[in-house]
Amino acid sequence: MRIVLLGAPGSGKGTQAQRLVRVHGVPQVSTGDLLREAVAQGSPLGQRVKAVMESGALVDDSTMLAVIRERLARPDAGHGFILDGFPRTIAQAEALQSLLAEIGRPLEAVVLMKVNQELLFRRLTGRRTCRTCGRVFNIYSAPPPVPPPCDGRCTAPDLFQRPDDSEATIGRRLEVYQAQTQPLIDYYRRARLLREVDAEGDLDAVATRLAAVLKDVRAI
Ligand code: AMP
Repeated sequence: MRIVLLGAPGSGKGTQAQRLVRVHGVPQVSTGDLLREAVAQGSPLGQRVKAVMESGALVDDSTMLAVIRERLARPDAGHGFILDGFPRTIAQAEALQSLLAEIGRPLEAVVLMKVNQELLFRRLTGRRTCRTCGRVFNIYSAPPPVPPPCDGRCTAPDLFQRPDDSEATIGRRLEVYQAQTQPLIDYYRRARLLREVDAEGDLDAVATRLAAVLKDVRAI
């Protein structure tokens, strides 16, 4: 399975990618997570991208290309991958196409996760992550269990809000999505790779709709 999940911040790409990982056994490749890890480690990459990420803007294409090239070369991506948050610009999409063509393993599908603007805002402002187990909750629609434990993986959810999920930055991220990432919808439609999913509503219902549009894509 070699697919891209495309959609605005808050459209549920990460959540649905995690479910696909459990079903298909191919890794989720989230460039946002890779960058957040680099920031947390204080690596040279992390130091370079921290301020850009917090502002809600995009990290430059050549940096992102280096990140994705390195990630896709790791052995666990040998049987496929679920790209989440990459590509985000036409230049990234073109570079990805060449990279995959070089190794003879082109994309099989790109799924657009469709969510209305109001719901996106609510999902992003309500998003909280458990510092211990990494699980993502939503204070409106999927609150953490009270009292703990948190899904059995940690004893007390220590929740934090991503710095770029502040109300001020969310507006900027949604604008950046419209200006720089939305053009990919037509790009992939023309490439006959695009499939669309109604990503509103219950997580299980979205997962079922997603599975339906991917039913012809090989699991591995
Ligand atoms: P995400 O977790 O996918 O919402 O990404 C968080 C932030 O990381 C974004 O707002 C960007 O600053 C940066 N980022 C993640 N993926 C990319 C990408 N493909 N291109 C440029 N910047 C990215």
